[in-house]
Amino acid sequence: MEMDQLVALCKRRGFLFQSSEIYGGLNGFWDYGPLGVELKRNVREAWWRDMVTAHDDMDTPDGAPCPYEMAGLDCTIIMHPQVWKCSGHYDLFHDYMVDCRESKRRYRHDQVHGRWVEARGQRFFVATQTLGPEGQDEMQHRALKFLGLRAKNAEELAWDGPMVCLTQVDDFSNVLGPDAKTLGTLTEPREFNLMFKTIIGALGGEESAAFLRPETAQGIFVNFKNVIDSTRVKIPFGIAQMGKSFRNEITPRNFTFRSREFEQMEIEFFCHPDQGPAWYKYWRDRRYRWYVELGLAGDRLRLRDHDADELSHYSTGTADIEYAFPFMADGEFGELEGIAHRGDFDLRSHMEGKLVREGDALVVEKDEHGQPRHRGSGRDLSYFDAETKERFVPHVIEPSAGADRATLAFLCEAYCEDEVPDDKGKPTTRTFLKFHPRLAPYKAAVFPLVRKDGMPEVAREIYKQLKPRLNVFYDEKSAVGRRYRRQDEIGTPYCITVDGQTLQDGTVTIRDRDTLEQWRIPKADCAAEIQRRVLGY
Ligand code: ATP
Repeated sequence: MEMDQLVALCKRRGFLFQSSEIYGGLNGFWDYGPLGVELKRNVREAWWRDMVTAHDDMDTPDGAPCPYEMAGLDCTIIMHPQVWKCSGHYDLFHDYMVDCRESKRRYRHDQVHGRWVEARGQRFFVATQTLGPEGQDEMQHRALKFLGLRAKNAEELAWDGPMVCLTQVDDFSNVLGPDAKTLGTLTEPREFNLMFKTIIGALGGEESAAFLRPETAQGIFVNFKNVIDSTRVKIPFGIAQMGKSFRNEITPRNFTFRSREFEQMEIEFFCHPDQGPAWYKYWRDRRYRWYVELGLAGDRLRLRDHDADELSHYSTGTADIEYAFPFMADGEFGELEGIAHRGDFDLRSHMEGKLVREGDALVVEKDEHGQPRHRGSGRDLSYFDAETKERFVPHVIEPSAGADRATLAFLCEAYCEDEVPDDKGKPTTRTFLKFHPRLAPYKAAVFPLVRKDGMPEVAREIYKQLKPRLNVFYDEKSAVGRRYRRQDEIGTPYCITVDGQTLQDGTVTIRDRDTLEQWRIPKADCAAEIQRRVLGY
């Protein structure tokens, strides 16, 4: 499948629109249309139900209570600025970027690559954002153009060394920027904080500055004590939150994959330090299984353990669940979710102040006067185990997923084409979205074969029975073959058709989206049958 086909379908059928499209759109922001909102809600609800309200997983590490407890939270998007100072986001959550004075474009420093080349007495670095053979072709074309040469002079170009990242180039005076025609137009790399800043109150100055949260996790840590005190949950237990997060990404791209406003689904799972490694393994496997069960079963999905040098300074284990999105180069994967063993870093940071690593220990970072650089809350966020009489700061396992990236992966995986005969028996290409029934925006569509002979009345009756239980669609317009095709294209798993035989023996046809199999059942059993197939009960 080409990504363009999916993007076009998403727009045509109302899954996704560019935000503020009538004003030319806003880069990095997306609106979910009437079908997209249902799909994403189904992704979020599946996550909340499977992880929080209905979880009954018994396959837990040795000795753990089954099932363990899970609680939910819904915290504010704007939080006390100190939260981000202690969490490290204020100091660390930034990227480096370079601007081009000529093209007025901005690039992430680590996403620009290029090669040194020598020709006609000049040596310069040709920069590009394109990797692989296409990048080489583009660089050759631009190098020749810069020198005023033609394609036939290509052998005059003496390329020096392999493709390297711009971060390895110290002096930009001989760099030809990715969209520039002259040398030396790129500025020095500058830090750029990814948090959106805002001002609280009408008269606010810099002291009233606050940030839109770049992740939902911190709301959980700062409420850890509130949840314990109000619910009496016992360790091990988890707190889940889903909601909007904001990151001022420098290069938003690839449809919704890298947006500036997006939704996260995060769990912080608190356990005894000795049990951290076992729970880390548990969550890593459980979260991977969740995607597989909902349809990402092919080899485009993978679980990748981070190498030791990729781990953050507080993490003893991190794994990513990744998907090979169609817009990525062959062999490349994009992150859907990260699962990290974070130790006691977060709770201790909010107690003591921002932590840094010193040797093997995490210590409070000090300023030039020997005072904590960013003060913690001073609250005691430790846990007292009444049975063992032990007090400790719990360790945390964090499965952190993105609702939009998961939705996009489910859309990509669902996109299928096959060949079927049309109404006149001629083979045509059918496009269908093979969503898991739990995720499909509509669970079933109900059609009368024709708009007469009492068929619409029977069909509406079935529709009315199903509607309070499931999101179903009623359609009596146009030829039935076209109605099937429309439902296939939006991923409706079942179509129920009332026809002439229904009026004689009271049975209706059910058609399966994927196999195109059709079978008859009594109309009175129809609602229960669809519910059982969609919800599993
Ligand atoms: P990336 O390296 O792709 O920027 P990350 O490692 O910064 O991602 P985390 O901070 O671990 O991401 O966030 C957890 C999850 O939130 C990610 O796995 C992803 O699903 C989602 N997410 C993060 N940034 C974005 C974004 N800009 N747009 C959409 N989803 C995002």
